Amino acid sequence: TRVPLIAGNWKMNLDHLQAIAFVQKLAWSLKDAGHDFTSTEVAVFPPFTDLRSVQTLVAADKLPLAYGGQDVSTQESGAYTGEISAAFLAALECQYVLIGHSERRTLHNETDEVVAAKVTAALKHNLVPIICVGETAADLELHGPSAVPVAQLKAALAGVDNAADIVVAYEPVWAIGSGQAATPDQAEQVAAALRLTLAEVLGQDVADKTRILYGGSVKGVNIAGFMKEPNVDGALVGGASLDITEFSSIVRFQK
Ligand code: 13P
Repeated sequence: TRVPLIAGNWKMNLDHLQAIAFVQKLAWSLKDAGHDFTSTEVAVFPPFTDLRSVQTLVAADKLPLAYGGQDVSTQESGAYTGEISAAFLAALECQYVLIGHSERRTLHNETDEVVAAKVTAALKHNLVPIICVGETAADLELHGPSAVPVAQLKAALAGVDNAADIVVAYEPVWAIGSGQAATPDQAEQVAAALRLTLAEVLGQDVADKTRILYGGSVKGVNIAGFMKEPNVDGALVGGASLDITEFSSIVRFQK
C-alpha cells in the first residue's frame, strides 16, 4: 500500500513573499476541505530562494506539507558557482528533491550520468529523490512508449541500493505544459514498465513500495483517471500547481 503523493513543481514562479501567502492559503484551503494528509501526501517544490521562508512557515504553523528543491548539485561543496548542495537542502528540512526534470535535461544538458550523480548526492543527505524520466515526441515515434523512460531510470539508479527511499516521476516531454496529457492507459503502461525495472534493479520489495507519479498537463478534471491506474501513485503537477483551487482539486481527487 503506497500512500499517494501529489507534488507541485512551481518551476520559476512565485518569489518568497508570494510563496508564504500561497503555502498558507493552500494549507488552509486543504484543511478547510477536510483533507486527510495521511491518505494523500502533498508536497511543493518552490524556487531555492523561497525554501527558507517555506521552512519557517511550515515549522511555525505545523503545516502538514512536505517541500523540496527543484534540483541539486552533484557536488558536496566548493567552487561551484550558482550550485546548491544536498546538505543545504537537508539543512532546510527538505524531504524531497526533484532530479532530472526534462527542463534540466534539455535546457541545462543534464545527462543520465549527471542525474545519477545527483541521485547519489541526495540520498547521501537523506533526501528522497524524485527521479524524473520521460520520452520526447520523437522518442515515442522512434522507440515506442517505454524504452527511453526505462533506460533513463536504469541509468539514474546506478548508485542506488535497495535500502534507498526514492520516488519516480514519469513525465512524457510532449505532455508537459502542452495541455495534452497522456491517457491514463498510456501512463499506466509506462508506469508498469518502470516498476518492472525497479524490481529488476532493486528487487521486488523496493518495486512494491516505490511511488511512481505521472506528470504532464495534470488538471482537476483528469487526475482521477490517472489515480485509478494500479501503477500510478500520484502526480507531479506544473502549471496547475500554481492555482490553489485547481491544485486542491487535484490533491482531493476522487478515485
Ligand atoms: P505541467 O503540469 O504544466 O504540464 O508541467 C508538468 C511538469 O513538468 C511538472 O514537473
